[in-house]
Amino acid sequence: MNTLDRRLAPFLRRWDYISFRHLHVFADAFAGYLRLPATPRLAHPLLRRHGVEIRREPLPPTVHAVWTRDGGDCLIRLSEHLPPGAANFTLWHEWFDLMAHHPDFPNKPPLRTLERCANRFASCISMPEEAVRRTFEELNGRGDKTTVMAARFVVSSSAMRVRLSELNLRWRYDRR
Ligand SMILES: [Zn+2]
Repeated sequence: MNTLDRRLAPFLRRWDYISFRHLHVFADAFAGYLRLPATPRLAHPLLRRHGVEIRREPLPPTVHAVWTRDGGDCLIRLSEHLPPGAANFTLWHEWFDLMAHHPDFPNKPPLRTLERCANRFASCISMPEEAVRRTFEELNGRGDKTTVMAARFVVSSSAMRVRLSELNLRWRYDRR
């Protein structure tokens, strides 16, 4: 077993079932288990620390990343076309994919669901609700600050936009 698998085993064993509907709960517990800061949450250094190799490669434009396991060794080939925000989100997605193939992952969701779960996990982890709400309150009233928030949370503007609408947060232009 590699470092990542060993580190995740006790955490994954706590769960009877992991489903799309309670992924926010799972993501919060994951963040607590690995003692992640509120923001920014960077997947790259954390994966490296757990022995996962990350290589930037010229993948086809529609492919963001590909992970492989060779015995205990994990490798993520990450598209060199991705800007930092999209790269971070993609690597969190890959975290979930790697976890879903861990021997202690409690259930095996079908591939389609798995991809949706991985995106939901990436979204909840990189843009935790509490921190998003707090930052939004701080910036609101001055117009659309989606790009500012995306930079703070190290995600793409489109991912930030989806998260804001999911949390029913709308920008205001206040008169001064
Ligand atoms: Zn995936």
